[in-house]
Amino acid sequence: MQADSSSETKFAGQTQTAKAMAKFGDDDGISDTFANMAVGECDSKRTSYIPWDEYFMAVSFLTAMRSKDPCSQVGACIVNNEKKIVGIGYNGMPRDCSDDILPWNKESEDPLCTKYMYVCHAEMNAIMNKNSSDLSDCTIYVALFPCNECAKLIIQAGIREVIFFSDKHSQKPVTIASKRLLDMAEILYRQYVPTQKTIKIDFGVTYQAEQSDASNQNGSISPATPRDINKKRDDYLAWGEYFMAMAFLSALRRACIVNSESKIVGIGYNGMPRGCSDDKLPWGKSSFDPLKTKYMYVCHAEVNAIMNKNCADVAGCTIYVALFPCNECAKVIIQSGIKKVIYFSDKYKGKPSTIASKKMLDLAKITYCQYNLPCRKVIIDFEAIDWNIASQLPPSS
Ligand SMILES: [Zn+2]
Ligand SMILES: [Zn+2]
Repeated sequence: MQADSSSETKFAGQTQTAKAMAKFGDDDGISDTFANMAVGECDSKRTSYIPWDEYFMAVSFLTAMRSKDPCSQVGACIVNNEKKIVGIGYNGMPRDCSDDILPWNKESEDPLCTKYMYVCHAEMNAIMNKNSSDLSDCTIYVALFPCNECAKLIIQAGIREVIFFSDKHSQKPVTIASKRLLDMAEILYRQYVPTQKTIKIDFGVTYQAEQSDASNQNGSISPATPRDINKKRDDYLAWGEYFMAMAFLSALRRACIVNSESKIVGIGYNGMPRGCSDDKLPWGKSSFDPLKTKYMYVCHAEVNAIMNKNCADVAGCTIYVALFPCNECAKVIIQSGIKKVIYFSDKYKGKPSTIASKKMLDLAKITYCQYNLPCRKVIIDFEAIDWNIASQLPPSS
Protein backbone atom coordinates (compact mmCIF):
# COMPACT_ATOMS: atom_id res chain seq x y z
CA MET A 1 0.00 0.00 0.00
CA GLN A 2 1.32 3.38 -0.90
CA ALA A 3 1.15 5.65 2.10
CA ASP A 4 0.88 9.38 1.76
CA SER A 5 4.21 11.05 2.22
CA SER A 6 2.84 14.56 2.43
CA SER A 7 2.36 14.27 6.15
CA GLU A 8 6.10 14.27 6.78
CA THR A 9 7.33 16.17 9.74
CA LYS A 10 9.00 19.36 8.67
CA PHE A 11 11.76 21.18 10.42
CA ALA A 12 10.49 24.02 12.50
CA GLY A 13 12.45 27.10 11.58
CA GLN A 14 15.38 25.14 10.32
CA THR A 15 17.90 26.73 8.05
CA GLN A 16 18.80 25.06 4.81
CA THR A 17 22.47 25.58 5.25
CA ALA A 18 24.58 22.49 5.19
CA LYS A 19 27.29 24.13 7.20
CA ALA A 20 28.24 22.44 10.38
CA MET A 21 27.59 24.53 13.40
CA ALA A 22 28.79 24.02 16.87
CA LYS A 23 28.13 25.33 20.26
CA PHE A 24 29.32 24.06 23.55
CA GLY A 25 27.93 24.57 26.97
CA ASP A 26 30.68 26.39 28.75
CA ASP A 27 30.32 24.85 32.13
CA ASP A 28 29.39 21.27 31.70
CA GLY A 29 29.65 18.35 29.43
CA ILE A 30 26.45 19.12 27.66
CA SER A 31 27.02 20.30 24.20
CA ASP A 32 24.58 21.55 21.68
CA THR A 33 26.47 20.60 18.62
CA PHE A 34 25.12 19.32 15.45
CA ALA A 35 26.62 19.10 12.09
CA ASN A 36 24.26 20.84 9.80
CA MET A 37 21.51 21.87 12.15
CA ALA A 38 20.87 25.38 13.22
CA VAL A 39 21.47 25.79 16.89
CA GLY A 40 18.48 27.09 18.80
CA GLU A 41 18.32 29.56 21.61
CA CYS A 42 20.16 28.24 24.61
CA ASP A 43 17.35 28.88 26.99
CA SER A 44 14.64 27.09 25.15
CA LYS A 45 14.29 23.61 23.76
CA ARG A 46 15.77 23.42 20.30
CA THR A 47 13.15 23.30 17.62
CA SER A 48 15.57 22.53 14.84
CA TYR A 49 16.39 19.00 15.76
CA ILE A 50 16.53 16.48 12.99
CA PRO A 51 13.21 14.69 12.36
CA TRP A 52 13.29 10.97 13.00
CA ASP A 53 12.71 10.01 9.38
CA GLU A 54 15.56 12.17 8.24
CA TYR A 55 17.79 10.86 10.96
CA PHE A 56 17.17 7.19 10.14
CA MET A 57 17.51 7.79 6.42
CA ALA A 58 20.79 9.58 7.11
CA VAL A 59 21.90 6.59 9.20
CA SER A 60 21.19 4.34 6.25
CA PHE A 61 23.17 6.62 3.91
CA LEU A 62 26.02 6.85 6.38
CA THR A 63 26.06 3.08 6.68
CA ALA A 64 26.22 2.77 2.89
CA MET A 65 29.64 4.42 3.10
CA ARG A 66 30.91 1.26 4.76
CA SER A 67 30.26 -0.64 1.54
CA LYS A 68 33.19 -1.77 -0.55
CA ASP A 69 31.16 -2.10 -3.70
CA PRO A 70 32.79 0.20 -6.25
CA CYS A 71 29.53 1.14 -7.98
CA SER A 72 26.68 0.74 -5.66
CA GLN A 73 26.62 1.66 -2.01
CA VAL A 74 23.34 0.95 -0.35
CA GLY A 75 22.52 1.05 3.34
CA ALA A 76 19.52 -0.02 5.37
CA CYS A 77 18.42 0.80 8.89
CA ILE A 78 15.71 -1.02 10.85
CA VAL A 79 13.93 0.83 13.64
CA ASN A 80 11.43 -0.47 16.18
CA ASN A 81 8.32 1.14 17.64
CA GLU A 82 10.35 2.89 20.28
CA LYS A 83 12.55 4.53 17.65
CA LYS A 84 15.48 2.37 18.57
CA ILE A 85 17.77 1.15 15.82
CA VAL A 86 17.71 -2.64 15.89
CA GLY A 87 19.51 -3.51 12.68
CA ILE A 88 21.88 -1.86 10.24
CA GLY A 89 23.32 -3.25 7.04
CA TYR A 90 25.10 -2.37 3.84
CA ASN A 91 25.64 -4.32 0.67
CA GLY A 92 28.62 -6.61 0.73
CA MET A 93 29.95 -10.12 0.41
CA PRO A 94 28.69 -12.73 2.88
CA ARG A 95 30.34 -13.04 6.26
CA ASP A 96 33.72 -14.80 6.07
CA CYS A 97 33.72 -14.68 2.26
CA SER A 98 36.69 -12.51 1.40
CA ASP A 99 35.80 -9.46 -0.60
CA ASP A 100 39.30 -9.50 -2.00
CA ILE A 101 38.69 -12.86 -3.65
CA LEU A 102 35.12 -12.58 -4.93
CA PRO A 103 34.59 -10.43 -8.03
CA TRP A 104 33.17 -6.91 -7.97
CA ASN A 105 32.59 -6.79 -11.71
CA LYS A 106 29.26 -5.84 -13.13
CA GLU A 107 29.76 -7.43 -16.47
CA SER A 108 31.30 -10.64 -17.68
CA GLU A 109 30.42 -13.38 -20.10
CA ASP A 110 30.53 -15.74 -17.18
CA PRO A 111 27.89 -14.87 -14.58
CA LEU A 112 30.11 -16.48 -11.96
CA CYS A 113 32.57 -13.67 -12.54
CA THR A 114 30.11 -10.93 -11.63
CA LYS A 115 29.28 -9.68 -8.17
CA TYR A 116 25.58 -10.39 -8.51
CA MET A 117 25.97 -14.04 -7.64
CA TYR A 118 27.56 -13.21 -4.32
CA VAL A 119 26.63 -9.81 -2.95
CA CYS A 120 24.15 -9.62 -0.08
CA HIS A 121 21.89 -6.62 -0.28
CA ALA A 122 21.73 -4.09 2.55
CA GLU A 123 18.22 -5.17 3.56
CA MET A 124 19.31 -8.76 4.01
CA ASN A 125 22.28 -7.73 6.12
CA ALA A 126 20.25 -5.36 8.29
CA ILE A 127 17.76 -8.15 8.98
CA MET A 128 20.43 -10.75 9.67
CA ASN A 129 22.39 -8.35 11.86
CA LYS A 130 19.41 -7.56 14.05
CA ASN A 131 20.19 -7.31 17.71
CA SER A 132 16.69 -7.68 19.04
CA SER A 133 14.80 -10.89 19.33
CA ASP A 134 12.53 -10.14 16.41
CA LEU A 135 11.64 -7.42 13.95
CA SER A 136 7.86 -7.52 14.03
CA ASP A 137 6.26 -4.10 13.62
CA CYS A 138 9.58 -2.54 12.71
CA THR A 139 10.23 -0.04 9.94
CA ILE A 140 13.08 -0.37 7.46
CA TYR A 141 14.73 2.68 5.90
CA VAL A 142 16.43 1.99 2.58
CA ALA A 143 17.98 4.11 -0.12
CA LEU A 144 16.54 2.06 -2.95
CA PHE A 145 13.21 0.30 -3.24
CA PRO A 146 13.86 -3.29 -2.13
CA CYS A 147 14.14 -5.96 -4.81
CA ASN A 148 11.87 -9.01 -4.73
CA GLU A 149 14.43 -11.15 -2.92
CA CYS A 150 14.71 -8.58 -0.16
CA ALA A 151 10.92 -8.15 -0.08
CA LYS A 152 10.64 -11.85 0.77
CA LEU A 153 12.97 -11.39 3.73
CA ILE A 154 11.24 -8.19 4.85
CA ILE A 155 7.88 -9.93 4.85
CA GLN A 156 9.12 -13.04 6.62
CA ALA A 157 10.88 -10.93 9.24
CA GLY A 158 7.58 -9.30 10.19
CA ILE A 159 8.64 -5.78 9.23
CA ARG A 160 5.57 -3.56 8.82
CA GLU A 161 6.78 -0.57 6.85
CA VAL A 162 9.34 0.26 4.17
CA ILE A 163 10.56 3.82 3.75
CA PHE A 164 12.62 4.20 0.61
CA PHE A 165 14.45 7.05 -0.99
CA SER A 166 14.60 6.14 -4.67
CA ASP A 167 12.37 4.04 -6.83
CA LYS A 168 14.50 4.38 -9.92
CA HIS A 169 14.12 0.75 -10.92
CA SER A 170 10.33 0.84 -10.68
CA GLN A 171 9.94 -0.62 -14.15
CA LYS A 172 12.14 -3.64 -13.54
CA PRO A 173 10.53 -7.01 -12.87
CA VAL A 174 12.32 -7.31 -9.53
CA THR A 175 10.64 -4.14 -8.30
CA ILE A 176 7.22 -4.95 -9.72
CA ALA A 177 7.32 -8.40 -8.11
CA SER A 178 8.50 -6.83 -4.88
CA LYS A 179 5.51 -4.46 -4.75
CA ARG A 180 3.16 -7.28 -5.57
CA LEU A 181 4.41 -9.24 -2.57
CA LEU A 182 4.46 -6.23 -0.24
CA ASP A 183 0.92 -5.27 -1.26
CA MET A 184 -0.38 -8.77 -0.63
CA ALA A 185 1.34 -8.88 2.74
CA GLU A 186 -0.13 -5.44 3.51
CA ILE A 187 3.22 -3.88 4.19
CA LEU A 188 3.22 -0.11 3.90
CA TYR A 189 5.77 1.61 1.75
CA ARG A 190 6.37 5.24 1.12
CA GLN A 191 8.97 7.43 -0.44
CA TYR A 192 10.94 9.75 1.79
CA VAL A 193 11.72 13.23 0.57
CA PRO A 194 14.47 14.88 2.60
CA THR A 195 14.11 18.41 3.83
CA GLN A 196 17.67 19.20 2.89
CA LYS A 197 20.04 18.11 0.18
CA THR A 198 23.09 17.19 2.16
CA ILE A 199 24.11 16.53 5.72
CA LYS A 200 27.71 17.22 6.50
CA ILE A 201 29.41 15.67 9.47
CA ASP A 202 32.41 17.81 9.82
CA PHE A 203 34.56 16.91 12.79
CA GLY A 204 36.97 19.63 11.76
CA VAL A 205 34.50 22.47 11.98
CA THR A 206 32.83 21.15 15.04
CA TYR A 207 35.96 20.88 17.10
CA GLN A 208 38.15 23.32 15.26
CA ALA A 209 39.52 25.00 18.32
CA GLU A 210 40.86 21.81 19.73
CA GLN A 211 41.58 19.58 16.81
CA SER A 212 42.42 21.93 13.99
CA ASP A 213 45.60 20.14 13.03
CA ALA A 214 44.27 16.63 13.03
CA SER A 215 41.20 17.53 11.07
CA ASN A 216 40.66 19.26 7.79
CA GLN A 217 43.74 17.87 6.11
CA ASN A 218 42.40 14.58 5.04
CA GLY A 219 39.93 15.61 2.43
CA SER A 220 36.39 14.48 2.60
CA ILE A 221 34.47 11.38 1.93
CA SER A 222 31.23 11.33 0.07
CA PRO A 223 29.66 8.58 -1.98
CA ALA A 224 30.24 10.21 -5.31
CA THR A 225 33.98 9.76 -5.60
CA PRO A 226 35.05 8.37 -8.97
CA ARG A 227 36.88 5.08 -8.78
CA ASP A 228 37.71 1.91 -10.63
CA ILE A 229 34.38 0.20 -10.99
CA ASN A 230 35.75 -3.31 -11.12
CA LYS A 231 37.74 -3.14 -7.94
CA LYS A 232 36.71 -3.10 -4.36
CA ARG A 233 36.63 0.50 -3.24
CA ASP A 234 39.29 1.45 -0.77
CA ASP A 235 37.93 4.71 0.57
CA TYR A 236 35.07 3.18 2.47
CA LEU A 237 34.52 4.38 6.03
CA ALA A 238 36.59 2.54 8.61
CA TRP A 239 34.63 1.14 11.55
CA GLY A 240 35.95 3.71 14.02
CA GLU A 241 35.21 6.56 11.66
CA TYR A 242 31.74 5.17 11.06
CA PHE A 243 30.88 4.84 14.75
CA MET A 244 32.21 8.27 15.57
CA ALA A 245 30.28 9.74 12.65
CA MET A 246 27.22 7.93 13.96
CA ALA A 247 27.66 9.60 17.33
CA PHE A 248 28.07 12.97 15.65
CA LEU A 249 25.18 12.46 13.27
CA SER A 250 22.98 12.15 16.25
CA ALA A 251 23.21 15.84 17.00
CA LEU A 252 22.46 16.05 20.66
CA ARG A 253 22.34 12.31 20.17
CA ARG A 254 25.94 11.80 20.81
CA ALA A 255 26.88 8.44 22.17
CA CYS A 256 27.05 5.19 20.31
CA ILE A 257 27.64 1.77 21.89
CA VAL A 258 29.16 -0.99 19.80
CA ASN A 259 29.59 -4.67 20.66
CA SER A 260 32.46 -6.97 19.82
CA GLU A 261 30.87 -7.86 16.48
CA SER A 262 30.83 -4.20 15.40
CA LYS A 263 27.09 -4.00 15.81
CA ILE A 264 25.57 -0.83 17.21
CA VAL A 265 23.59 -1.79 20.29
CA GLY A 266 22.71 1.60 21.72
CA ILE A 267 22.56 5.24 20.67
CA GLY A 268 21.82 8.07 23.03
CA TYR A 269 21.51 11.81 23.13
CA ASN A 270 21.09 14.40 25.81
CA GLY A 271 17.51 14.91 26.81
CA MET A 272 14.93 15.04 29.53
CA PRO A 273 13.99 11.72 31.11
CA ARG A 274 11.39 9.57 29.44
CA GLY A 275 7.85 10.77 30.13
CA CYS A 276 9.08 14.13 31.47
CA SER A 277 7.85 16.77 29.06
CA ASP A 278 10.75 18.73 27.64
CA ASP A 279 8.38 21.63 27.11
CA LYS A 280 7.82 21.97 30.83
CA LEU A 281 11.36 21.56 32.12
CA PRO A 282 13.90 24.40 31.81
CA TRP A 283 16.67 24.42 29.22
CA GLY A 284 18.50 27.38 30.69
CA LYS A 285 22.13 27.16 31.69
CA SER A 286 22.33 29.80 34.35
CA SER A 287 19.92 30.97 37.00
CA PHE A 288 20.11 31.89 40.65
CA ASP A 289 17.76 29.03 41.27
CA PRO A 290 19.38 25.71 40.35
CA LEU A 291 15.91 24.25 39.86
CA LYS A 292 15.52 26.57 36.88
CA THR A 293 18.53 25.18 35.05
CA LYS A 294 18.60 22.13 32.82
CA TYR A 295 21.36 20.44 34.79
CA MET A 296 18.98 19.16 37.42
CA TYR A 297 16.98 17.27 34.83
CA VAL A 298 18.88 16.42 31.65
CA CYS A 299 20.11 12.86 31.08
CA HIS A 300 23.41 12.68 29.29
CA ALA A 301 23.85 10.83 26.02
CA GLU A 302 25.96 8.08 27.61
CA VAL A 303 23.26 7.23 30.14
CA ASN A 304 20.58 7.24 27.47
CA ALA A 305 22.61 5.07 25.13
CA ILE A 306 23.03 2.53 27.90
CA MET A 307 19.40 2.64 28.97
CA ASN A 308 18.24 2.44 25.36
CA LYS A 309 20.32 -0.62 24.62
CA ASN A 310 18.55 -3.15 22.48
CA CYS A 311 20.43 -6.20 23.63
CA ALA A 312 20.40 -7.97 26.96
CA ASP A 313 23.45 -6.18 28.24
CA VAL A 314 26.35 -4.05 27.10
CA ALA A 315 29.08 -5.90 28.96
CA GLY A 316 32.33 -5.85 26.99
CA CYS A 317 31.08 -3.15 24.63
CA THR A 318 32.81 0.03 23.48
CA ILE A 319 31.17 3.45 23.76
CA TYR A 320 31.95 6.22 21.28
CA VAL A 321 31.33 9.67 22.66
CA ALA A 322 31.91 13.18 21.42
CA LEU A 323 33.04 14.44 24.78
CA PHE A 324 34.83 12.69 27.64
CA PRO A 325 32.14 11.29 29.97
CA CYS A 326 31.43 13.15 33.20
CA ASN A 327 31.69 11.38 36.56
CA GLU A 328 27.97 10.60 36.68
CA CYS A 329 28.14 8.93 33.30
CA ALA A 330 31.35 7.14 34.28
CA LYS A 331 29.46 5.50 37.14
CA VAL A 332 26.79 4.22 34.77
CA ILE A 333 29.39 3.14 32.21
CA ILE A 334 31.25 1.15 34.85
CA GLN A 335 28.11 -0.46 36.25
CA SER A 336 26.94 -1.44 32.77
CA GLY A 337 30.06 -3.47 32.06
CA ILE A 338 31.30 -1.35 29.16
CA LYS A 339 35.01 -1.96 28.73
CA LYS A 340 36.22 0.83 26.51
CA VAL A 341 35.53 4.52 25.96
CA ILE A 342 36.53 6.26 22.75
CA TYR A 343 36.07 10.00 22.99
CA PHE A 344 36.62 12.77 20.52
CA SER A 345 37.22 15.75 22.74
CA ASP A 346 38.58 16.14 26.25
CA LYS A 347 38.00 19.85 26.46
CA TYR A 348 36.86 19.73 30.09
CA LYS A 349 39.84 17.75 31.27
CA GLY A 350 40.64 20.22 34.05
CA LYS A 351 37.19 20.02 35.62
CA PRO A 352 36.49 17.99 38.74
CA SER A 353 33.80 15.94 36.99
CA THR A 354 36.30 14.77 34.37
CA ILE A 355 39.08 14.13 36.87
CA ALA A 356 36.74 12.09 39.06
CA SER A 357 35.53 10.25 35.98
CA LYS A 358 39.07 9.22 35.03
CA LYS A 359 39.86 8.19 38.57
CA MET A 360 36.93 5.78 38.60
CA LEU A 361 37.51 4.49 35.07
CA ASP A 362 41.14 3.80 35.97
CA LEU A 363 40.17 1.91 39.10
CA ALA A 364 37.59 -0.09 37.17
CA LYS A 365 40.22 -0.83 34.50
CA ILE A 366 38.14 0.61 31.72
CA THR A 367 40.34 1.79 28.94
CA TYR A 368 39.77 5.13 27.29
CA CYS A 369 41.45 6.68 24.34
CA GLN A 370 41.02 9.67 22.17
CA TYR A 371 39.77 9.04 18.69
CA ASN A 372 42.79 9.53 16.51
CA LEU A 373 41.85 8.31 13.08
CA PRO A 374 41.89 10.79 10.26
CA CYS A 375 38.79 12.92 10.57
CA ARG A 376 37.45 13.22 7.10
CA LYS A 377 34.38 15.26 6.49
CA VAL A 378 31.53 12.90 5.99
CA ILE A 379 28.96 14.15 3.57
CA ILE A 380 25.63 12.46 3.30
CA ASP A 381 24.48 13.54 -0.08
CA PHE A 382 20.85 12.75 -0.74
CA GLU A 383 21.23 14.13 -4.24
CA ALA A 384 23.96 11.69 -5.21
CA ILE A 385 21.58 8.82 -4.86
CA ASP A 386 21.16 8.12 -8.53
CA TRP A 387 24.85 7.74 -8.93
CA ASN A 388 25.26 5.99 -5.67
CA ILE A 389 22.93 3.12 -6.43
CA ALA A 390 23.71 2.88 -10.08
CA SER A 391 24.06 -0.86 -10.16
CA GLN A 392 22.50 -2.58 -7.25
CA LEU A 393 20.74 -4.82 -9.73
CA PRO A 394 22.12 -6.74 -12.66
CA PRO A 395 21.73 -4.88 -15.95
CA SER A 396 19.65 -7.64 -17.51
CA SER A 397 16.98 -7.87 -14.86
ZN1 LIG B 1 17.56 -6.73 -2.65
ZN1 LIG C 1 27.64 12.79 31.76
